Amino acid sequence: MFDENRVCAVVAESSAQEALAAARLALRRTRVIELRLDFLASEDEFAGLLRGIQPLAGQATLIATCRRKEAGGRFEGSIARQIARLVLAVGSGCSWCDLEIETVERLNAATLRKTLGDVRLIISSHDFARTPARLGQLRRRLESAGGDLVKIAAFTRNYREFVRLLQTAHGRSNVILAPMGDLGQPGRILALREGSPLAYATVTRAVAPGQLPIETLQSVYRVERHNRRTQLYGVIGNPIAHSLSPLMHNAAFTLRHTNAVFVPFLVRDLGDFLKTVKPLRVSGLSVTIPHKQQILRFLDECDPLAAEIGAVNTVVCRAGKLHGYNTDHLGVLESLGRRIDLEGARILVYGAGGAGRTVAHAVGRAGAHVFFCARRPEAARAAARDFGAEVVDRKDLRDLDFDAIVNATPIGMMPRGDESPLDAAELRANLVFDLIYRPMRTRLLRLAERRGIDTLSGVEMFVAQGVAQWELWTGENAPVKAMRAEVTAALAREESQAPPRRGDS
Ligand code: NAP
Repeated sequence: MFDENRVCAVVAESSAQEALAAARLALRRTRVIELRLDFLASEDEFAGLLRGIQPLAGQATLIATCRRKEAGGRFEGSIARQIARLVLAVGSGCSWCDLEIETVERLNAATLRKTLGDVRLIISSHDFARTPARLGQLRRRLESAGGDLVKIAAFTRNYREFVRLLQTAHGRSNVILAPMGDLGQPGRILALREGSPLAYATVTRAVAPGQLPIETLQSVYRVERHNRRTQLYGVIGNPIAHSLSPLMHNAAFTLRHTNAVFVPFLVRDLGDFLKTVKPLRVSGLSVTIPHKQQILRFLDECDPLAAEIGAVNTVVCRAGKLHGYNTDHLGVLESLGRRIDLEGARILVYGAGGAGRTVAHAVGRAGAHVFFCARRPEAARAAARDFGAEVVDRKDLRDLDFDAIVNATPIGMMPRGDESPLDAAELRANLVFDLIYRPMRTRLLRLAERRGIDTLSGVEMFVAQGVAQWELWTGENAPVKAMRAEVTAALAREESQAPPRRGDS
């Protein structure tokens, strides 16, 4: 139905001029545009838009929507005025109208068709608080209203709701999915894979929680190529928005022409999320903060090295079973191990979570003496016991020298890039290694540089662990150079846009 483009750009602006500019911008990426008539501030702006869209109508499929307030839109006029706006929009070239079920049910379907003229109809439902309990019933209600397609926009409070919503489109071609909310956001990426005929995206601003920019959907996730055979990978964590894993892994899939997508999942409750693995046919996962240790109890099998470290950052899903691995270990050796001779080196690990334990295990095996310092002394003691390391009190750091200090806490990670886990006076080492890779130059690394200490960002480790993950999932050699280039380019872009920071000279 929308063969040429399956991503619909939503144009929602208060003035005709802005709406037309946004529509022209959208045309660079898609031939399907939704015009949110309810966003226009006045009848004059509405008239201005109508005058301007006629030339666009020949170039794109235009969907007119004048969403009423009670369905989450901005239109406060009567139903008669709402329909009158749609009639004029159809007269100006819109070939589709989207109407909320509440309005359609107040009108006679045949009369509505006659009034709107030669137009196709999307009948939609919206729930901004939850995913309706009886989705099958809701779908049938929407279908019986006499449209050409139905649309279900629903907030997903947990992954149980998420799966239920996505499954509504399985085996059908008439159900448009619009999952909402921070948990629902991956559903915007997966809608076309799950069978939705359209995925909605923003041009200038999001009009529903969780909507993503059109360039992200098309260039990073290549959603228009998705089908039921598209393999699904993802990163799970909380927070997750900072992760560059989607850029890195999707770039590798694109380069290798693999029918696969890698999606960020915000996961607060691991048990809830893992119920998606079978119904959504998940092939593999990256695991990040704070789930690397808790994931162990959900695994069907764990690689002995990962079990020994007590942290898993990679899951391979085979026939619905979860197999855990640790590729951070390799990442540490590929980065820190290339900068210093680990044999006999004194290495302080600040932070005793999953990554801290991995560093201790990797460098300890290579012959280093490991020292743990953590905000909870009992966590430092437990990690030290497990890896034959020593515990150091924070107050003693100003008097102790190390070959390398490793930050294994999230302090200094975006968006709190102005924080440092350690003070300048506590940095007594030849090298400071910050596991954080976003930003590339953390405040800790800048403090170290100012003291003339060598620094190592988490970027190299990040790329090395990602390469090993990709190879575990696909069984192929990863395109290492392309993956590194994608990550460093994104970080460089970000650094060049960052405002001057505290402590920079
Ligand atoms: P984790 O398992 O949650 O452990 C985090 C550690 O940091 C815990 O010891 C925690 O202490 C401590 N911590 C958190 N907030 C703190 C604070 N405000 N003050 C002092 N200590 C604090 O996380 P993880 O997986 O080890 O990851 C740690 C960091 O390493 C993250 O920033 C992650 O992005 C980074 N990392 C980077 C790479 C890479 O490839 N470059 C790979 C892995 C991890 P409590 O136990 O007391 O909460």
